[in-house]
Amino acid sequence: MLEVKDLVVAYGKIKAVKGIDFTVDQGQVVCLIGTNGAGKTTTLRTISGLLRPESGSITFEGERIDTMPAHKIVTLGLAHSPEGRRIFPRMTVEENLMLGAYSRKDRELKSDLDAAFELFPILEERRNQPAGTFSGGEQQMLAMGRAMMSRPRLLLLDEPSMGLSPLMMKRIMSTVRTLRSQGTTILLVEQNAQAALSLADHGYVLEVGKIVLAGTGKTLLASDEVRKAYLGED
Ligand code: ATP
Repeated sequence: MLEVKDLVVAYGKIKAVKGIDFTVDQGQVVCLIGTNGAGKTTTLRTISGLLRPESGSITFEGERIDTMPAHKIVTLGLAHSPEGRRIFPRMTVEENLMLGAYSRKDRELKSDLDAAFELFPILEERRNQPAGTFSGGEQQMLAMGRAMMSRPRLLLLDEPSMGLSPLMMKRIMSTVRTLRSQGTTILLVEQNAQAALSLADHGYVLEVGKIVLAGTGKTLLASDEVRKAYLGED
């Protein structure tokens, strides 16, 4: 579904991503893990068209998207729930959700709003509340609900668990499972390696812009290197 080939992304002279290759197959949850500054966010932002690669290619469902503008990429069925959530604090919950559907030309938004409300009932209860009054976990639900409003086939999720309580984190990860079971393919970036690898079909470990390990979620969770470097074990 998504194929990233020899991707290089630089900020000026500094290469943040140094030639990575990976694929995401339809129906899977694939995760990218790695420490701060490994290049995970840069990779997601490049896939969704917010950054341009220096070289390499990104193909989504057979079509090259690495030179396409971001608004066009959304219409192909690829949505991005960004790091830090980036909700609009003065707008209501419902207005934030509707913004996720801005690229849509059809008028079936009501059923998608209902789907977002079903996924996260609190969004319906608080639909008229300014989004800036939400807690971190609630904002994360809103960011995911908003991304789902474009009816993506592939959802890019950047650090959904950041700053959340363990309970809220479980809730978010369980929603990732639900979305997969409903047919959404997910590329998940996480610093919480345990949570991400436990649910991922496939995972890649990024270190300073390069993929150093790859395997199924299970294999990576069991690997000595991952246990030592990312799960804090001796
Ligand atoms: P984190 O988990 O901390 O978000 P990450 O793996 O997502 O880390 P990136 O945010 O992709 O990492 O950053 C990769 C590298 O690129 C880092 O060295 C970072 O300092 C650098 N970088 C990121 N954004 C910019 C920018 N706008 N200008 C210059 N350098 C940047």
